[in-house]
Amino acid sequence: MSGLKDIIGRIEKAAQTAGRDPASVRLIAVSKVQPLARIEAILDEGHRLFGENRVQEAQGKWPDLRERYNGVELHLIGPLQTNKVKPAMDLFDSIQSLDRNRLAVKIATEAQERGSCPDLYVQVNTGAEKQKAGILPDEADAFIARCREEMDLPVIGIMAIPPANELPEPHFDLLAQIAERNGVSEISMGMSADFETAIAHGATSVRVGSALFGARTPTAG
Ligand SMILES: *Cc1c(COP(=O)(O)O)cnc(C)c1O
Repeated sequence: MSGLKDIIGRIEKAAQTAGRDPASVRLIAVSKVQPLARIEAILDEGHRLFGENRVQEAQGKWPDLRERYNGVELHLIGPLQTNKVKPAMDLFDSIQSLDRNRLAVKIATEAQERGSCPDLYVQVNTGAEKQKAGILPDEADAFIARCREEMDLPVIGIMAIPPANELPEPHFDLLAQIAERNGVSEISMGMSADFETAIAHGATSVRVGSALFGARTPTAG
């Protein structure tokens, strides 16, 4: 028995406590660097929504898993290099790490060629951390508008990873405000340590890895 039922129960309870419909919050099972057997256990329990943070790693396991399990939905939640845009668009149903103009241009060009595009989330660097990817909060409105209007990109969501050493609440609120004023319906925020808090602040999807699968091996990211 995996921790799936436990996590789903905690999500439902957090939603109810916040006066929200539990069905309005989706669990993204973050399967990066997890052993295949653990991922299969979650799939066997019926879960289908997963997140991976590296294109190459996801390419190594998901095409095969998709053949064996129907209805898998895969989200890219880690940084995307422009030279990996094609394989990322082949593999992922959603890309949550749209974090710069050059990447938007590349995705738009490729989307035009194939006539389709994964759902996109703009990643916002809510803490304006130097080392962290994402659009700065002040620039988010203009970037979202440019992606939608000039590049015709399907920006349906917004995503953030708050600073590790700060309370997450103000970051969750900031992200929710940016989503609201831009008419973005999907808000991806909250991880193992703080997903219940994120739900209280409006998350529509939470990205849970270690609390669901167990700890990742220390050598891998
Ligand atoms: C790894 C990762 C997660 C999951 O982290 P946990 O703390 O293990 O739940 C969530 N979001 C992103 C972007 C990640 O890279």
